[in-house]
Order: sequence, then C-alpha cells, then structure tokens
Amino acid sequence: MNARGLVDFINASPSPFHCVAEVTRRLLQAGFSETPDDAEGPLPERGFLCRSGTVHAWVRGTDAPASAGFRLVGAHTDSPNLRLKPSPAFAKEGYALLGVETYGGVLLHTWTDRDLGISGRVVVRGDRGLETRLVRIDRPLARVANLAIHLDREVNTKGLVLNKQTHLPPIVALGSAVPVETLVASALHIDPKALLGFDLGLHDLQPATLGGLNDEFIFAPRLDNQASCYTALEALIAVAAGQRPASTAVMALFDHEECGSGSERGAESALLGHLLEALAEGPLRRALARSFLVSADMAHGVHPNYADRHEPHHKPMLGGGPVIKTNVNLSYATDAETAARFRAACADEGVATQDYVVRSDLPCGSTIGSIAAAGLAVRTVDVGCAMLSMHSIREQAGADDVAAMARAMRRLLAGG
Ligand SMILES: [Zn+2]
Repeated sequence: MNARGLVDFINASPSPFHCVAEVTRRLLQAGFSETPDDAEGPLPERGFLCRSGTVHAWVRGTDAPASAGFRLVGAHTDSPNLRLKPSPAFAKEGYALLGVETYGGVLLHTWTDRDLGISGRVVVRGDRGLETRLVRIDRPLARVANLAIHLDREVNTKGLVLNKQTHLPPIVALGSAVPVETLVASALHIDPKALLGFDLGLHDLQPATLGGLNDEFIFAPRLDNQASCYTALEALIAVAAGQRPASTAVMALFDHEECGSGSERGAESALLGHLLEALAEGPLRRALARSFLVSADMAHGVHPNYADRHEPHHKPMLGGGPVIKTNVNLSYATDAETAARFRAACADEGVATQDYVVRSDLPCGSTIGSIAAAGLAVRTVDVGCAMLSMHSIREQAGADDVAAMARAMRRLLAGG
C-alpha cells in the first residue's frame, strides 16, 4: 500500500486489459473468487467479475445491503494513448508505418521520440473456438519521430502543432508495410490467419519509477488513473483481511472513462447496477439510498511554472494528501454532504485533505463520478491525488499520497 507498490502495478499494466489482469491476479491471491458476468445463484463472500477492461470486486458485509447499504470506490482503468487502426500497416517514402487513432485526450507532443511497444488484446480462432489473449510486446518497435529543428525553425516560438492523421503514424521498419498480424503473430506464436480481431495500442517502454531528490515523486505512465485503481484495490484487500464490516464493500474499476464512459462496460453501463442488484439481498432502491460512492480520479496539482492556471486560493500540492474536487455545475459529483463525509473519514484516519476547484474562466474536467451517481442514484464524492502532466505519456505524482489515499479508501469501504 505504498508508492513502490504502485510503481510495480503500473509496470505490469501497459493497457486497460493488462490492468484488469493484474487486479484479478492480486484479488485471486487475496482469496477472492471470480464469477462470470452471467452467473446465476448466490455470489461468493469475496468475489469479482470482469468484462475485458472493467473489473468489479466486492466483500460482503455482515448485514444485507438493503439495510446497511454499499460502500463503493470507483476509478477507471483506461488512459489516453495511441491505438492501432484496423489494417494499420502502410508504407511511405521507403518506411513501414502504422495508422493510429488517438484514444482520449492525448497530450500529443509527449508521444514523439519515445521507444514504443505494442499492447492490448487480440481474438484468435483456436481449437476451442474464438479465444481472447493478452498481447504485450516490450521491444522498441515503433517511434513517432520529431521533425528536426532545422526544418521547422519556429517550433520553439510557435509551439509544436501535430495533425493527428498525418504526423502521428509511428515508423516500425524500413521497406514495405508490415501487417499487424506479422508483428503480433510472432509474439503469440500463432498462424497470422488465426487473428480475427484486436484492440491494440502503443505504450512507452520506459518503466515507472520513484524520482526526485528524496524519492518524493512517482514518474510514470498512466498515473491517471491506474494510481486510483491501485489504491482502491489495496483498500479493498485490506478490508477483506480485517474484521468483516456491516456494509458491503465494492470496488468498481471501469474502462472507457477517457472517451465518455458510454459503453457496455463503462460507468454509464448497467453492469455495476446489475451486480449491486445481485448483491442487494432485498430492494435495490433501499440499498442504494443507504450507499456512498468515492469516485477517485487524479487531480491537478499546482505547477510552479504555470501557477496562474489555478484558482489562487486552491493550489493542491503533490504529497499534500487526497484532493476533494468540487464543481458547482456537477462536472464533479461532490456536494456538501459527501465532501464532509470524506473529510471526516480522512480526519479520523489522520490524513490531510486539500480542495480543488477550477478557475472560473477555465472549463472543468469530468470523471466517472457524476455519471455513476446519476445512473445509480448514489451519493458521491469526487476525489483524487494531485499530479502534474496529466494525459502526458509520462506523468508525475507525489509518493506519500498513495498510502494516504489507500487508508482513506479503506476506512470508507469499511463503513467509516
Ligand atoms: Zn482520469
């Protein structure tokens, strides 16, 4: 439950599918059992269900949720990146390239001049029909090359403007086009003809690490939002290891937040609601009315070189403790009651909190919080750890915030 643990977690999770695989590996180790998402009959005391990039896990309380409610923590497994288009291979000027789409709000220039691998999932036709397999190629296969400054003399004064269609395709080889089937087939040891579908993206090969003079930082890809996935997971496992609480604890990690949550497994889907119905042991309406959701996603820490982008009275610091995020127009779901509940739990745990509100002349980001709150009619607070470089290929957060957030989450999941 600390920053080093988060570094290992991120290094195991180059894609949302790998993130879910790492979460489920740790849940199985902690004694949770997997339930198919169409399972009939009573659900286990400690269980989880997955649907590709989404995983929901629970620890049943001693009392029925219809009387004790649910205590939920939610986050998202996906991060902005470059994803391969269907039939992505093409050749140009003697190079083999890959067609890519941007997934989510990518900070484009950070993807240039990086050593990139390929990861995600593929569907292949095997002996027993269609099989989904994870793919992770950690070789420096691809590179989005910058243009030399001699050929663009104004780049440092006018900024780097990248066209998503023409400037982002990475080079993968010299010569003619290299089909993705060839790239992946050698990694999976399959006949290229067996590959029938893929969800593949690029990832930076530089591993996550602690950094700064006193290791007070984490330098890593995908901190948004694998940091929240990790703290939620550690908190749920701690709840499972302790005295069984009265209320049922639920961790909901969703795919597709970065593109709006509107999918069969995103925060807008009925998947979590159906699970809660199966766990409710009584009217779901009553259970939800007695429930509380902590929606955890990363927060904007103040940047010393751009401090004017912050509301002058709210400048969250890396290492300063969980940030409570508020927006009066409900980009965040926080209100007086839910903020107070989170603040009180942190105070009881000896954890400092900070507040974030966007400058009134800037637009506000969004999270799964308001979407899940509306879909489930559950009281919700939006929180997160402060970070810099959000949506960059390599982000920065505070090391001490990891344990602080995990402790706050554990307390709330246990009914505090
Ligand atoms: Zn996020």
